[in-house]
Amino acid sequence: MTPSPTMERYQETAPGCHVDLSDNTNLFGRPPSVARILESASNVDLTRYPSAYSGELKAAIARHVGIDESMVVVGCGSDDVLDSTLRAFGAPDDLLVQLDPSFSMMKVFGGVSGLRVEAIPPGDDLAETIARSTPAITYLCSPNNPTGAVLPLEMMEQIVRESSGIVIIDEAYVEFAGVTSVDLLHKYGNVIITRTMSKAMGLAGCRVGFGIGHPALVSRVEAARGPYKVSTLSERLSIAVLENDAAWVAENVALATATRERFARELEVLGYKPLPSSANFLLVPVANSGQAEADCRAGGIAVRRFESLAGIGDALRVTVGPWPMMERCLDALRAQAS
Ligand SMILES: *Cc1c(COP(=O)(O)O)cnc(C)c1O
Repeated sequence: MTPSPTMERYQETAPGCHVDLSDNTNLFGRPPSVARILESASNVDLTRYPSAYSGELKAAIARHVGIDESMVVVGCGSDDVLDSTLRAFGAPDDLLVQLDPSFSMMKVFGGVSGLRVEAIPPGDDLAETIARSTPAITYLCSPNNPTGAVLPLEMMEQIVRESSGIVIIDEAYVEFAGVTSVDLLHKYGNVIITRTMSKAMGLAGCRVGFGIGHPALVSRVEAARGPYKVSTLSERLSIAVLENDAAWVAENVALATATRERFARELEVLGYKPLPSSANFLLVPVANSGQAEADCRAGGIAVRRFESLAGIGDALRVTVGPWPMMERCLDALRAQAS
């Protein structure tokens, strides 16, 4: 079989940058529980498999979210949960609908699962447009990557209500937005919300994410996912952070959002017009993202570049970290602006 054009390896940001503002991870430090768990990790038995579906982690997540354990599925990052959801509910040639622009990995996962992927621009009649195209799976991301915009809750509920298929709501940045669609889970059986330990929670290296939804839906995702996807250590670290580090997460979320607003104001002084964001990154439209990225790189800063985004054009997505990092980024972008 010849691999389809969508089956390409993910492009990592080129190494060698002192400051990496490209991947929206928590740049403010590491959760306090990590050191404690790793120091006592010499007694962890890695000769045995972890539990097949990470029951203890699911219990900790259920307590964290305030739902029943039967409504939780975990995975090797939320990427794994998203991918498994497409496999569970999408047959080849089924339609996957997402917004344009939105999380780039969905096009890849959809393509690998043989789905047709359609990206539609956001608008007032979004719910009607989606309902008319009767997708097997609708993917919504709020706050949206790469724009940072939250979708109105009523609009998401309308999409869920009018959809005959499954609706995925990706809440990778929920901690920064402070609004969630979790209430929908108690009213509708066709919605799955995904979240991650990789962003606000500061555990990207652990590769842990989760999905929450109706038990029948979640168990199909789990069956499509397969057993043993979360390692023994990753499960322990995730449980410890969920149970002990809520204050640390909240502190960093507050820091990130305050720094984001300060960074946005400084960008505006330079003549840029960053999009309003409810996440830990800003999307900054630029004339030429190749040139702007190169300028950042020359200043030792890695950012994520986008070309010709629908309704936006070229743009850089910049993760918000401690202020000295943002100052370096401003220095590099000042060169662009002048
Ligand atoms: C980062 C990100 C993810 C993936 O997170 P992992 O849990 O690390 O796989 C999922 N969705 C969105 C929108 C993201 O930005």
